[in-house]
Amino acid sequence: MSDGKYKVEVTELEKDDRITALQAGFAESLRRESAFTKLKEQAMKDVIAILQQLETMRFNDRSAFVTVASALLKSVEPELARYIKIVLDNVQEGLELQKGVLVIYTGGTIGSAPKDMADPESPQVVKPWRELKNASPKLSALGFPVDAISFQHPLDSCNVGPQHWQTIAGIIRDHYDDYTGFVILHGTDSMAYTASALAFTFQDLSKPIIITGAQIAGIVNARNDAHQNMITAVMLANPNMFNIHLIPEVVIAFGGRITRGCRTKKMDVTSFLGFDSPNYPAIGHSGDVIQIDTKHVRLPSDAGLNVLEKMDTNVIMLQAFPGMQHSQVTKNVLLDPNLKGVVLQAYGAGNIPTQSEFLDQFAQFIGRGGIVVVTTMVPAGRVEMGLYETSQVLLDRGLIGAFDITPEAALCKLMILLGEYPDQPDEIKRLMQQSMVGEQSLSLETTAFASVGQLSDGETVEIKSATLRSIESEERIHRVILRFVDAALKTAGEDQKAVVSLIIPGLPGDGPTKVEFNRLASGKDALGIGSSGESLAIDLTKYKQLFRSKASNSKLPSKQSMQIQVSITGDKSKLSWGRVELNIYISDE
Ligand code: ASP
Repeated sequence: MSDGKYKVEVTELEKDDRITALQAGFAESLRRESAFTKLKEQAMKDVIAILQQLETMRFNDRSAFVTVASALLKSVEPELARYIKIVLDNVQEGLELQKGVLVIYTGGTIGSAPKDMADPESPQVVKPWRELKNASPKLSALGFPVDAISFQHPLDSCNVGPQHWQTIAGIIRDHYDDYTGFVILHGTDSMAYTASALAFTFQDLSKPIIITGAQIAGIVNARNDAHQNMITAVMLANPNMFNIHLIPEVVIAFGGRITRGCRTKKMDVTSFLGFDSPNYPAIGHSGDVIQIDTKHVRLPSDAGLNVLEKMDTNVIMLQAFPGMQHSQVTKNVLLDPNLKGVVLQAYGAGNIPTQSEFLDQFAQFIGRGGIVVVTTMVPAGRVEMGLYETSQVLLDRGLIGAFDITPEAALCKLMILLGEYPDQPDEIKRLMQQSMVGEQSLSLETTAFASVGQLSDGETVEIKSATLRSIESEERIHRVILRFVDAALKTAGEDQKAVVSLIIPGLPGDGPTKVEFNRLASGKDALGIGSSGESLAIDLTKYKQLFRSKASNSKLPSKQSMQIQVSITGDKSKLSWGRVELNIYISDE
């Protein structure tokens, strides 16, 4: 289709003529035609011999079959040759009643072959879909149609990007009702990005979208992983047919491992097990049987497909490195007027150099409406901002953490949210900290408590929440932090001591709960704030049952609000804050 409907040119929908099934049905059907039953005995024997001969032959497509069948039949019964197309049409009509799978062929090693077919050592180039299909005759024998749409110019996936994702999304959206599922054949290099982008694009999926590729091309190599990967993907896209549990998600099925697309990373340049999802269990495995771990599969949505098609590509991925804090290049990047979002791959649990001039470059970018999402460069584990002082200072400057999301998924999610919510940085920040399609293990729900306020020695103030944003299930509450943002604590007197106390009503049986924090005490409960501009973060996780939502539908906040009394004691001590918020970290499962 070169009508400009999609951003990238694609071929016409190539209907699978299901040549193996067609061939099998042809002989049977022709023998029922009166033109056959009226034949004289010898002619009938000759035709039967030809039908048997046709059954032993292999054809790539219907037209090859028609050519050979008519040549053979013409040699014995020219009249009968006229019936070939009619009989094939009848057989095909019967086959088409079944829904099948749509393959979207984008290129990659899976469909590559040596440039010079006579010289296996010549460089690999990406070949058209037809060549891959013809090299995989078993595809036509699966018992349902496998139709295809291909990029007009199939690509090495290092050249695939947002335009291609949008094209793939458009194809799936346009054909969503026509197929049981979709398979995307793709190069391995940028597969994790395509999988992530599509996972966010397709909200409320009820059908499988399976992405695969190969490490060794399948068109000419006898030893390869292309055909296995492709057949497994097609089977997963038509699960009923094979008694496989439905996966209504975008997944990568590669070398025996089936992983959630927006959790997956390319982990090995050459291994047949080239992909893994280090922070989420595999959804399934394909060995001698295909097994799906149903508890890790998302439920199909009955809300109807919702396609988020807009994207803003004015983003960049930066990785922390020693010396970054002195880099003029980083500074220049953050000053670029086109830049809207940064995925910052931090060390470990979310730490980057903490020199304030360096951090201020980010703060200024954020002040201009930019988004900085902190992920970790370490493949496994998660960012927990505020766990160390080094990341607490990031929170204080408006950077946000996205837990255990992969940098690949974070980048795609950011592009999509920037596209969907232009000029709404707060909404983008909120959603970046929420699991939208199972891309991260935690979601952050923030409830506003109070805006600017202060408290002096001996005083008590009451801070009241807006509608509590939480969840009904206590087990899923991972952490609860009450944060006095932009706080300043002043102490005086000999011992510089200040104790902040909270009274939280509601622990069953015990009445109000008093939590005390000592400015100078060592250990967890110490008030780790300096004299100004930072957060006072009070960990209330052990009282998490107080912060459970009483709403019966866990997705909706209840109307419930809560009230906390805060007081401070200590000679001339004073606590002030810019705002107070409650952060509840909720596990995805
Ligand atoms: N460079 C190739 C690609 O990503 C590698 C592959 O497919 O494995 O398209």
